[in-house]
Amino acid sequence: MRALQYRTIGAAPELVDIPTPTPGPGQVLVKVTAAGVCHSDEFLMSLPEDQYTYGLPLTLGHEGAGTIEAVGPGVTGLTIGESVLVYGPWGCGRCYPCSKGEENYCEKAAALGIRPPGLGAPGAMADYLLVDDARHLVPLGDLDPVASVSLTDAGLTPYHAIKKSLPKLVPGSVAVVIGAGGLGHVAIQILRAMAPCTVIAVDTSEEKLELARAVGAHHAVTSDQRAEEQILGLTGGRKVDVVFDFVGIDPTTELASRLVGVGGDIVIVGVGPGTVEVGFFSTPWEASARAPYWGSRSELMEVVELARAGRISVEVETFSLDEGPEAYERLKAGTVRGRAVIVP
Ligand code: NAD
Ligand code: ZN
Repeated sequence: MRALQYRTIGAAPELVDIPTPTPGPGQVLVKVTAAGVCHSDEFLMSLPEDQYTYGLPLTLGHEGAGTIEAVGPGVTGLTIGESVLVYGPWGCGRCYPCSKGEENYCEKAAALGIRPPGLGAPGAMADYLLVDDARHLVPLGDLDPVASVSLTDAGLTPYHAIKKSLPKLVPGSVAVVIGAGGLGHVAIQILRAMAPCTVIAVDTSEEKLELARAVGAHHAVTSDQRAEEQILGLTGGRKVDVVFDFVGIDPTTELASRLVGVGGDIVIVGVGPGTVEVGFFSTPWEASARAPYWGSRSELMEVVELARAGRISVEVETFSLDEGPEAYERLKAGTVRGRAVIVP
């Protein structure tokens, strides 16, 4: 089968032919219908050799959708041909966080060598994907896999980030979304669907600000030296309740710190090096900061239901497997509108 692999540190991913895997006990072979392109892939491909821990060669793709092709011994309850989404942050399934469906926070995954597909295990940018357990599959029904595949990360990650801050997003509150890319443009829609707050999007790119408005942001502000002043102009001078930072570099975490008000949340989702200082004299009273990772199995089901209800949809640009390297170049150049999705 064909697979898009990261093979050499610092080089572009390559399309190669590798053997099609056979599902072992408990495993499921999925015929890939779509695989999403995430900035996190670009991040890992930018790491120097001494910081790179994902193994080589690595078949990319931690957002996957497909149809059930074959099941290994012991797997029951799945129908061949059934359309599914793949829950990516695989855990052991048995520890306390996993028992709550929070496999993204599995206590044992690292020790057991369990890695997400595309982030250690072979990923979805291939003709077939081996899934370690049937519990990592969420039925998609008649939803379009290409439009839905990014619900597994670009939907799930902001959903998890937003859900914990919902009690603060009451009528009259303000949420700021920094970075209206793959994750951010879905975050805006989730906020509009789940909370009666005002949503202000911030991005460096005029096209992304236009997308932010198109998907429901009340206001869209250019990310520059004047962003804070512009945002406070929109709120009548009042600081904001929650800032979601989908970039996570010093200029954006600093902006988040300056914007957050008393009792507010700073939520850093972007994997940049930016930090937030929390202290009695450096943060408004009772303001909190957190950096969440991905989401739980039940949250993925909730995100799929939001999509099924027509409350959120992912803007998608499609690429073939051959065009995979180009999709990453476009992502790096910041010219993808919404999410790039590989359709094998
Ligand atoms: P993306 O490239 O699609 O979107 C990033 C957006 O940020 C773009 O619209 C870009 O124009 C904008 N941007 C860049 N610099 C900016 C600045 N200084 N101010 C304002 N906006 C700026 O990326 P994505 O795939 O949506 O991922 C977003 C981030 O989330 C990445 O850092 C990614 O690695 C991370 N991520 C984290 C998790 C997690 O579990 N925490 C999961 C997935 C992705
Ligand atoms: Zn676990």
